[in-house]
Amino acid sequence: MPRTVPAIHLSEHAIDVAVVGDGPAGSALARQLTLHGADVVLFGEDRPWDATYTTWVDDLDGVSVIDAAAIWLHRFESVAVDFGWPMMVQRSYGVIDNQRLRSGLRDGVAHDIGRVVSASDTRARIVIDATGWPSGLDDADRCLVERDEMAWQTAIGVVVPEPPEGPLGKPTVMDFSDPHVPDDVDSPTFVYAFPVVDGWLIEETVLAGPAVDPDSLLPRLASRLGESVEHLLERAVRLERVRIPMGASVQTRPGRRHAPEAGMATVRFGAAAGMIHPATGYSIASSLRAVDRVADAVIKRLDRSGPANHAADIAAVSDAVWPRSLRRTRRLHDFGLEVLVGLDAAETRSFFQAFFELPVNQWGAYLRIDTPPGELARIMSSMFAQADWPLRLQLVTGNPRSLLAVLGL
Ligand SMILES: Cc1cc2nc3c(=O)[nH]c(=O)nc-3n(C[C@H](O)[C@H](O)[C@H](O)COP(=O)(O)OP(=O)(O)OC[C@H]3O[C@@H](n4cnc5c(N)ncnc54)[C@H](O)[C@@H]3O)c2cc1C
Repeated sequence: MPRTVPAIHLSEHAIDVAVVGDGPAGSALARQLTLHGADVVLFGEDRPWDATYTTWVDDLDGVSVIDAAAIWLHRFESVAVDFGWPMMVQRSYGVIDNQRLRSGLRDGVAHDIGRVVSASDTRARIVIDATGWPSGLDDADRCLVERDEMAWQTAIGVVVPEPPEGPLGKPTVMDFSDPHVPDDVDSPTFVYAFPVVDGWLIEETVLAGPAVDPDSLLPRLASRLGESVEHLLERAVRLERVRIPMGASVQTRPGRRHAPEAGMATVRFGAAAGMIHPATGYSIASSLRAVDRVADAVIKRLDRSGPANHAADIAAVSDAVWPRSLRRTRRLHDFGLEVLVGLDAAETRSFFQAFFELPVNQWGAYLRIDTPPGELARIMSSMFAQADWPLRLQLVTGNPRSLLAVLGL
């Protein structure tokens, strides 16, 4: 039975900042604003955080909203990948303890539990929409809602009581070895395997492609484990179904429908703002890393003297969420996503083989949404130089129009 929560009307809250959406992104921003002494309330449904959240450990270096050293359920100094043959990646990776992350990010934060129906009758000076993708606000700007051609990451995860024998019993970020099973899923898939709070998670994943039913990936997963789907489901502790928008559009300025002169506009943050990495589907580290910059922009606006200027508040904070330079970074990443979606299984393996052969600081920077665009362009050139000739041809001819757009031609 879905839990019912009260409806919240923002018109009843005369506050400086209303953060709507109490997932990791909204909770982090509300906490940072609270630490700055702002008059802020976090509004949300208090749903459990039961997705498996993992990230590269050093992506949280410098994050100030939480003690990043204290949020891990498990940390590994190296993790396995397989693109035809097994390799260990020497970079620290962690599985987050969601309970610790959640209580840390909510610590000291005023939290009003319920569902915000509308943000158009608000009395808050700034409303942050951190309701995930697509926005959970009924009157959200629909131009940001999912597009038909958008790429999705889809996965089915099965939690089993013990790690399996063989390679999938090791912490693995990407095992692209071929499961040798005829089925009707066209997209290449890989397996991701990690210990979680209630067992061992093994997840068959389409990195990016057209939306598919997660359950249609079960035969591949069962085949890799050498068992039937029925047997796998019988011994499963639970299933995790993943659907992440990979090409979610980025909000730069508020849409016309909610023009500030009409009395309302929100600033999006987290997954709601498309802060999802287009090559991984990850957004936890992206949101936590952006919190300082966005909170600073909010505080600066609140500290201004003189008459309130709602349009300028919204524009300044939106620009902190996606500064101009990071929008350029995003265009490069979007191009990378288009290339990935066009690759078949063999090309995908050779793409990632070349990718992980780059120096770790380079591929690590590629996997962050806030890498400066010049640095990202240099990494992409190195990647091109590293690729074999068939892959280079695919990179150049795959989508020439997007390539020209990225090059600004
Ligand atoms: C199964 C799964 C696994 C993932 N694994 C990873 C991972 O390993 N690493 C990683 O970096 N990313 C991962 N992601 C992607 C991404 O980080 C998560 O989706 C993350 O939860 C996004 O955080 P968020 O706070 O932006 O949005 P959400 O977590 O979606 O939070 C939005 C919140 O807003 C609330 N809300 C919605 N509408 C309203 C409303 N009208 N009023 C009040 N509240 C509302 C919802 O209840 C929800 O709690 C995963 C995603 C999924 C689905």
